[in-house]
Amino acid sequence: MIDEHEIKAKIQSELDRIRSQTQRIVEKQLTLDEIFKLHLSQLLFENTSDGILITDSSFTILKVNASFTTITGYNQEDVVGKNASVLKSGKHEDVFYQELSESLIKTGKWCGEVWNRRKNGEMYLQYLSIFPITAENSQIAGYAGFYNSAIVLNDDCTQLHNNAYHDTLTGLPTRVLLNERLEHQLSHSKRKKQVMALLLLDLNRFKTINDTLGYAAGDLLLQIVTTRLKSCVREVDAIFRLGDDEFAIILEDIAQQQDAARVAKRVLSICSLPFQLIGQEIYITISIGISLFPPDGDNVETILKNAEAAMQRAKELGINNYQHYKPAMNVKAFEQLTLEHNLRKALRENEFIVYYQPLIELATGQVTGSEALVRWKHPELGMIQPGRFIPLAEETGLILPLGEHVLRTACEQTRIWQQKYCKSLSISVNLSARQFLQQDLTFLISKALEDSSLQPSLLELEITESLGMKNPELTLKTLNEIKAMGIRISIDDFGTGYSSLSYLKKFPIDTIKIDRSFVSDIHHDSNDAAIVLAIIALAHSLGIKVIAEGVELKEQADYLKHHDCEKVQGFLYSQPIPAQEFEKRFLDI
Ligand code: C2E
Ligand code: CA
Ligand code: CA
Repeated sequence: MIDEHEIKAKIQSELDRIRSQTQRIVEKQLTLDEIFKLHLSQLLFENTSDGILITDSSFTILKVNASFTTITGYNQEDVVGKNASVLKSGKHEDVFYQELSESLIKTGKWCGEVWNRRKNGEMYLQYLSIFPITAENSQIAGYAGFYNSAIVLNDDCTQLHNNAYHDTLTGLPTRVLLNERLEHQLSHSKRKKQVMALLLLDLNRFKTINDTLGYAAGDLLLQIVTTRLKSCVREVDAIFRLGDDEFAIILEDIAQQQDAARVAKRVLSICSLPFQLIGQEIYITISIGISLFPPDGDNVETILKNAEAAMQRAKELGINNYQHYKPAMNVKAFEQLTLEHNLRKALRENEFIVYYQPLIELATGQVTGSEALVRWKHPELGMIQPGRFIPLAEETGLILPLGEHVLRTACEQTRIWQQKYCKSLSISVNLSARQFLQQDLTFLISKALEDSSLQPSLLELEITESLGMKNPELTLKTLNEIKAMGIRISIDDFGTGYSSLSYLKKFPIDTIKIDRSFVSDIHHDSNDAAIVLAIIALAHSLGIKVIAEGVELKEQADYLKHHDCEKVQGFLYSQPIPAQEFEKRFLDI
């Protein structure tokens, strides 16, 4: 026989241990430990807002606290001496309780959601933690159950809040009320000079769960998530359901920024515990974005927008993650980050391919070479045109490895064609300004030529007019070095940039490429026609050859041929195409 006092003492000391464990689990904070050390467990038992239930080893109820009475409606006299099964709602199958007992014996605890029934017959969803109490001889002497007071969901919430302001499934207020509450909270926080936080939460994989396990399971999951979220916040804080799998939490009057992070961590940790859905154990992850008032905005719209940006960032960084808003996260910066990240990956994974557009000599109608134009074959988005990623590659410096890749590929391909078809085609490669200022540019070029065994005279580098503007001395020096290697140089998009007639004299230029904006109108715009003629005349007077870009019509080609333009390039002959296709159409004859 175990003495009753001994059991009481035992229970008290177990309570200490269990309460602190639960606290650790639920709040990940240990501050209450210190209180326990001051032997306040009895006080706590009586005053905690969590319901506590103590049973013997066969689940006969020995003791309950006042909060238990508040939650369930049962007082001491109603339940002491009865089996804990009086609380059963009938909503769970027997196997649920069997698994609960097994888990208790095996792991020494059980935590999860349970549908219980109040004294008045109402059903409610409850987050419950149960721990065994062991006697001196290590035998199980009883059990302690903790009912989290914050997470009670009435079964009839559907009837209670069946309107646009409350979500019928979870009973939570909706987006309409979020805006109202934020408005109210902001002016309150402004007046009281308090800090407020908005957390936006997005459940990952929710759609898959709905699709694979059915809507009933999805609904149950959302209800359980709701109870778990409630366990993470204080009574004053508000939780909202914004959409299918989106929630929001307003934390009012927080002492410091870290408090919002602490709640976010708590949510992530409690929601990473398994969910029991229709006999299946399911895991979910959550992405959380946090924005604060005052630092991240002073009106509802901005606070919301910034929390959204932070949440997107959290999603991007990986699952089960929270992020504070940072100014760099505004949508444009965010898109750029995403792209930059993707660009790096694309380089690593060889997603860039070089297309070739033929250059045609007007006098003979022969293909004499090609221009290398890069494309990004994105695994999901398909073929991306250079206009969408070259500017970012330039901004981030990724143009250096990318440009080198294009140069090497183009030289190698041209050399292969030369050997295979005994044809010395030229190859034009675009150089961006950033590449041009690269220290070891000439070394990289000579290495590409050497490795591919391509004659330097077949390589033509295309630069733009703006290049010489920034640093004319360095530009001239580099151009002279390139020229000395036997490589040809052309000015791209001629006529669109700074008027650079003087550069034509100053720099060692071999070719001018007339921009396609002039070419497209030559046959019906006399001004454009005059400009094109002037450029051709000027170039020829300086011993420079001319290529017209963007030739789409036969009339344009005829006009250019008639006025002694040497070469053309454009859709009339071909779009830029992959190497294999180029070979088939222009070399395999
Ligand atoms: P770009 O150097 O002026 O290249 C010519 C552009 O005109 C190509 O666009 C080509 O597809 C297009 N084009 C050619 N013929 C016609 C035509 O008849 N009609 C029309 N409407 N367009 C024509 P793409 O390939 O989209 O390239 C755009 C720009 O991206 C290039 O302009 C070049 O500045 C840049 N780029 C492409 N590849 C590279 C590269 O490897 N490195 C660098 N730095 N820039 C590149
Ligand atoms: Ca070009
Ligand atoms: Ca061009």
